[in-house]
Amino acid sequence: MNRPTSSFATGSCTLVGAGPGDPELLTIKAVKAIQAATVLLVDDLVSESILSSYARPGARIVHVGKRGGCKSTPQAFIERLMITAAHEGETVVRLKGGDPFIFGRGGEEVEHLREAGIECTVINGITAGLAAATSLGVPLTHRDHAQGVVFVTGHAKTGAGAHEDATDWRALAATAHNARLTLVIYMGVAGAGHIERELLHGLPGDTPVAVVQHASLPQQRHIATTLDRLQAGIAEAGLASPAVIVVGDVLRGLAAAALPLGSDAGRFGT
Ligand code: SAH
Repeated sequence: MNRPTSSFATGSCTLVGAGPGDPELLTIKAVKAIQAATVLLVDDLVSESILSSYARPGARIVHVGKRGGCKSTPQAFIERLMITAAHEGETVVRLKGGDPFIFGRGGEEVEHLREAGIECTVINGITAGLAAATSLGVPLTHRDHAQGVVFVTGHAKTGAGAHEDATDWRALAATAHNARLTLVIYMGVAGAGHIERELLHGLPGDTPVAVVQHASLPQQRHIATTLDRLQAGIAEAGLASPAVIVVGDVLRGLAAAALPLGSDAGRFGT
């Protein structure tokens, strides 16, 4: 949409949360924004059916994740694309998995767009950790078990050392234990051994843990185990990214319920 008063034909940019995968978990606002978009920059974990159902014919769709076969598109390139398209007057939607402001660098994108003088709005999505717990029928908080929840990344800040991360897992474990908090760990599967060892400094080995892969999608799978079996359980079940690890007493009873491995979808909330 051109704004004649501007030196540029300034369009707009909206960061849209696509939710955890199930298209029915999109918000109505997200659907409207996708339908209005003339340019869509789409992350890896966004379901193709969302685009085929809601993107307008003729909209330019750019996949900026790893699915194309190559390494993920550099962040600076994605941001330049968004800024250029918005300056050309396009209605740009940046479609991101889950919620745009839970990991995934949404905060940085908004800063850079605003610095470039582009109007930028954000539409929330259901974050993967929430969907993962709900799909098992488990709340993230509970008056008897957890007074709060921590969303934390298990991904090492890139550098030479494989999983030499900035997260102080021991401090986090002690706090989770003392303050009774549920931990929801994103991007933690690759570093599960390290995370397990560190968390065991502050949390008992029998603390319940669940790992949920492809939450909300038909191919969803999960394991329910204990913290001292986190890495072993992941390896035995062959779980891989994208998955979230949930740690805490809100999961008590889940192992006893003995939900089998396999397709979980449709069990709760999805
Ligand atoms: N903004 C996203 C998170 C991006 S980080 C959100 O709010 O959900 C990417 C990580 O999210 C993955 O490595 C994985 O840990 C988690 N994730 C995303 N989609 C998932 C899904 N459907 N099931 C399980 N984990 C998922």
